[in-house]
This record gives sequence, structure tokens and C-alpha cells, in this order.
Amino acid sequence: MNCYNHPETAAVATCADCGKSLCKECASLYTTPICSECNLERAKSNKRSAIMSCFSSVAIFVAVFAFVLFKGGGGLQPSLLPTL
Ligand SMILES: [Zn+2]
Ligand SMILES: [Zn+2]
Repeated sequence: MNCYNHPETAAVATCADCGKSLCKECASLYTTPICSECNLERAKSNKRSAIMSCFSSVAIFVAVFAFVLFKGGGGLQPSLLPTL
């Protein structure tokens, strides 16, 4: 089995995600032996989850802020506030 990037080079590892053969050079490109396509995929999903966690923490912050603001008054009668 030879490297999928370098057909002349013998493979020493396989991609952790898709199982493509990787030579020593390709296997050492990233921390895990992984082909560039899968590395790209991983980077994409990492970015997506980072955005999602960022978004959810902002949502929590907004919810807490709104709750505090709402509870804090603004002349509202306590009886008008919903029970949270
Ligand atoms: Zn792969
Ligand atoms: Zn290679």
C-alpha cells in the first residue's frame, strides 16, 4: 500500500478518519495521522462547534441580562412579572 498523496512512497499510517494510506511525510503533517481532506473537515466542524458554544454562551448571557433587567423593575408591578 502506498501513500494516497504520493503513489511512489510506501504508506506507514492510515488516515484516522477515512482510512486512506499516508506516507511518513503525510502522517506527520498533523498531530494525528490524518489526510488533508479530513483535517479540513475537522477544522470545519471545530469552527462550527466553537461558533455554537459562543452563540449559546451569548444566549445565556442575554437571557440572564433580560431576567435581571426585567426583575430589576422599570416601574412594573411585581404582580405583572411572570414567575420564573
Ligand atoms: Zn482522511
Ligand atoms: Zn504522502
